[in-house]
Amino acid sequence: KVRVRFAPSPTGPLHLGGVRTALYDYLFAKNQGGEFVLRIEDTDTARYVEGAEDYIEEALEWCGIIPDESPKKGGKFAPYRQSERRDIYDRYTEQILKTDYAYIAFDTAEELDAIRAEFEAKGEVFSYDNKTRNRLKNSIALSEEEVQKLLDAKTPYVVRFKMPVDRTLGLVDIIRGNSAVNTDTLDDKVLVKNDGMPTYHFANIIDDHEMEISHVIRGEEWLPSLGLHTLLYEAMGWEAPEFAHLSLILKPDVSTLISKENIDSITKSFTEEFVTKNSQFSFDESSAIIKSFFSEVKSPRFKSMLNENEKDNEITASVKQFLKKGLSGKLSKRDGDKFGFPVFPLIFTDPATGNVSQGYRENGYLPEAFINMVSLLGWSPAADKEILSLDEMTQEFDLNKVHKAGARFSKEKAEWFNHQYIQLKSDDELLQILKNSDLNLNAEDEKLLKIIHLMKERATFPKDIYENGKFFFEAPTSHDEKASKKAWNEETADLLTEFAENLNSINDFSSENIKQNLHDFAENKGVGMGKVMMPLRLALVGELKGPDVPDILELVGKEESTARINNAIN
Ligand code: GLU
Repeated sequence: KVRVRFAPSPTGPLHLGGVRTALYDYLFAKNQGGEFVLRIEDTDTARYVEGAEDYIEEALEWCGIIPDESPKKGGKFAPYRQSERRDIYDRYTEQILKTDYAYIAFDTAEELDAIRAEFEAKGEVFSYDNKTRNRLKNSIALSEEEVQKLLDAKTPYVVRFKMPVDRTLGLVDIIRGNSAVNTDTLDDKVLVKNDGMPTYHFANIIDDHEMEISHVIRGEEWLPSLGLHTLLYEAMGWEAPEFAHLSLILKPDVSTLISKENIDSITKSFTEEFVTKNSQFSFDESSAIIKSFFSEVKSPRFKSMLNENEKDNEITASVKQFLKKGLSGKLSKRDGDKFGFPVFPLIFTDPATGNVSQGYRENGYLPEAFINMVSLLGWSPAADKEILSLDEMTQEFDLNKVHKAGARFSKEKAEWFNHQYIQLKSDDELLQILKNSDLNLNAEDEKLLKIIHLMKERATFPKDIYENGKFFFEAPTSHDEKASKKAWNEETADLLTEFAENLNSINDFSSENIKQNLHDFAENKGVGMGKVMMPLRLALVGELKGPDVPDILELVGKEESTARINNAIN
């Protein structure tokens, strides 16, 4: 039976990478007719963030990724919160201590620091390995009686994994294939902390075993732990699940993010970060250099500019280093703030700092569009289909088609998906979405539906329908100057006055009738359609944009249209 779990730690809001892991976990489980389990890994009390668990559940629900078993829903293997499974871990701690794979370590932070300092003095990297192990106070070095005495005296201790010496482990990953690691490159990880709580590694494999998890699909950052996890299964005498590690989500291409409009704000946030890290340089000076780079971001030379370093002074060299690092690699939570796109599904307020991070939901993304975008960050369905519902993804999902290479996030692509999904919504559905938003729509449903019908084609977000169609709700307060020059000449005022009278004579004020009337009017006057249409549009909208003029006239209505025309003439 296929059983897959998503096992987030409640250390903050779920980010894009977390959503993708949850989604692939879900898709694989459902594709295989299996079960999808949500387990909260909250044994690290120091990193616990209030509200994070609720956030994770709400976010998954918004995405439509509904677990079969979870802390709230319960299930056969409840509880699904690790902090409530202590007795289970205690039992297995006892069991592993009876094997040769674990030991009790009494060493103190001071003793460890002293050894670490020795290493550093020699310019070597400290590792808690078998050599270190033999120099410290633990159940391997001490006699049974000594250990018992320390335990009776309530000496604090941790339980560590006893990494075997010089063994080559074969590792199997569904996405990455086979690899090998030598145990001498791994250290003796803590399995149980001095408060009696297991660490992630130990609790994780115990629960995967107990909850009968068949496949572990998780982020690439856990790949270095696979050797330890494989050995832990061996130590416990359990069969390990199959593993698949998902590649990173990479930063978007900066050249698609920086524009004339936002270059100052982006420069500012980069400079702030740079100056925090390099306090020897002034804000203004750093800002000027950073801005000069961002001004070139669209040029093909940009990347090589960051690499040349002939005539650089100290500050330019530091800026280049900082930018090179900050513009490549893993998509980070801060990128969203810096470039103005959400990295979290829902809005999140950090209880510690009060910082608010925007969410996709609040930015007007439809959950279907968001999930579709996320699904393609590292997976290609057959025939490179792009628009897929959750059901279609489930049918098509195949771990063998998940990419080994990192997937680059693209803000444009995210917006493109949203635009596509808005087109797939009916006018009624969009009306409901708009009515549930905080937009001030002072119009009847019938009129709103017509506006939606006319405007959705150009909308990336539902609110665009309203914002690009503001003129339907209120008269323009000014007329675009450049457009006026183009649309208006000496004859225009007379022409429009006459046309306004003409409009008044139309009984059935439908766009078809109006269109016919416009044609006839232009023909009678012997002028081109543009001569009437352009100034009319300007009078109604304030600029030379929007849907067809007869459609605008119909929706704005006879009286209001006449008023706007008169207003433009005077
Ligand atoms: N609790 C781990 C995390 O937060 C889970 C890793 C795993 O899936 O094994 O990412």
